[in-house]
Amino acid sequence: MVVLLKQNPDKKQIEKLIEWLGDFGIDVHISEGIHSTILGLIGDTSNIDIDLIRALEIVADVKRIQEPYKSANRKFHPLDTVINIGGAKIGGGNFAIIAGPCSVESSEQICEIAARVKTGGAGLLRGGAFKPRTSPYAFQGLRAEGIRLLLEAKKLTGLPIVSEIMDPSQLPLFEEVDVIQVGARNMQNFELLKELGKVRKPILLKRGLASTISELLMSAEYIMAGGNEEVILCERGIRTFESETRNTLDISAIPVLKGLTHLPVIIDPSHATGISKLVLPLSLAAVAAGADGLIIEVHNDPAHALCDGPQSITPDAFDNLVKRVAEILPFAHRSGSGSL
Ligand code: PEP
Ligand code: MN
Repeated sequence: MVVLLKQNPDKKQIEKLIEWLGDFGIDVHISEGIHSTILGLIGDTSNIDIDLIRALEIVADVKRIQEPYKSANRKFHPLDTVINIGGAKIGGGNFAIIAGPCSVESSEQICEIAARVKTGGAGLLRGGAFKPRTSPYAFQGLRAEGIRLLLEAKKLTGLPIVSEIMDPSQLPLFEEVDVIQVGARNMQNFELLKELGKVRKPILLKRGLASTISELLMSAEYIMAGGNEEVILCERGIRTFESETRNTLDISAIPVLKGLTHLPVIIDPSHATGISKLVLPLSLAAVAAGADGLIIEVHNDPAHALCDGPQSITPDAFDNLVKRVAEILPFAHRSGSGSL
């Protein structure tokens, strides 16, 4: 349920209403916009008399929310959420590019790529230390050492870093990681999501291989329900019958998500296609459709990458991609504030 308040509502009356709702076990999320204040009611509202609230002097309107996600719902929070990661902003008209290798392989590799993508225009550095691989015999990542090397690259370049967590037991290693990534395979690892709800740093949540948009939003809700409201959603391709590409990029997820939620939405064209030459056209399509950012796999030697070489672009190709993105960014579709 959301309660839309009249302009300049009496603060005492708001407090009284919140206290009264508290007696029913309802938490209230206050969203203050420029022209209006919205109270988002979280909990079981079935026993609340909607007409009683509507009759209050401070109340302009009351609506029941059908969707099961509340904190992530744009109806609760009409304005775009802007996430600031060490100066790199994302959401609400701020566009960010995250770039780097699929996996951290060595100090030289991550530091060289970090320096190159920074020059090219990346705002954040990505690099996997814990890798979810289909085969147990494939390279599993450098784990703790990988995080250490990422921190070395962060120190060198000043770029905030993004890395994937696979289990809550790894959390102590992520203390200095700026954004924690939840990979597609863990989108519905609810125990992990609950733990990340207690963390006070942004979470990059990737859509599961066969998950609906609504399921993605429910996973974001798990994190937000724990008190961590900084969630970045990532569409990275879903599994379809098509086999020419690794996955099928769901471009429509961008405007659909932007209508349903206030959270930033980014696109991963690398995992979506699995093919380096498709990364540029799909990046441009994502920007045109209103994405808030991109996460791109870049490798200094794709042919010898330990993971995801075929979809990794070179630093030179990345430079070009950033330029092309900048050219079309001013013409991108903006679907913030709830309008599709
Ligand atoms: C990754 O970003 O390295 C990754 C494994 O992505 P996904 O979870 O989308 O497959
Ligand atoms: Mn990868």
